[in-house]
Amino acid sequence: MMRTVEKWGPHLEQSGWIAVPGDVFSRHLFGGSSWRILSGAELSPAPCLLLSLDLKALPELRLDGVSLLPLALNLNCDLGEQAQEYQFDVRTRQLHWLSSACPAGHQPAPEERFPEPLPERCVSLRPMQPEELPGDEERYWSACDSFLGGAGFLRVLGAPVWLAEPLDAVCVCGQHMRYVASLGYEVSGEPSVFLEGEQVLFVGEMAFYFFLCADCCRVRVLSQPSS
Ligand SMILES: [Zn+2]
Repeated sequence: MMRTVEKWGPHLEQSGWIAVPGDVFSRHLFGGSSWRILSGAELSPAPCLLLSLDLKALPELRLDGVSLLPLALNLNCDLGEQAQEYQFDVRTRQLHWLSSACPAGHQPAPEERFPEPLPERCVSLRPMQPEELPGDEERYWSACDSFLGGAGFLRVLGAPVWLAEPLDAVCVCGQHMRYVASLGYEVSGEPSVFLEGEQVLFVGEMAFYFFLCADCCRVRVLSQPSS
């Protein structure tokens, strides 16, 4: 469902966090297999865990009964703008994939695939800088530079950087889903912040947006192309 609001303006002046490599005291994780991804069907390639956020260290996202928030998506399948969705259970650390399997022919060549799981890294969250907030047109473009190929490609809470019309999501229970995080991309030629070797976090000129219904522990991942 679309809402007609601008991609920049004072309503997007809300600061959030950028995921950066952390140390042993960090509470959040990039990649890894701390959550088990289950599905009713054979999922190949499988979705992977991108981030596991420790909500005890994220006071803006205090949710009753939800202490961890897993953010997962299928990086090894070209789904275009098709939504991905899953439900998670904090008690069992299981993630139930609800979207269908990757259609044949939509997978990259084996040598181009991301490792499953992604390498696990400790993550800290640094505050977004003023130029990473799309509070006006000039800063919208600087926020895009950070989100697409810059240091701020993994945003948590705060204002999203929309590449096209702002997205909205309504859960199957009828409640509005809250925007919680987004993934832009890294550019090749420079070492990845989180991955090993020459691979960078890039699946195409697009961004992914994570929406949460806390009552259902359900996450929907929507995407937008950058052109
Ligand atoms: Zn719901």
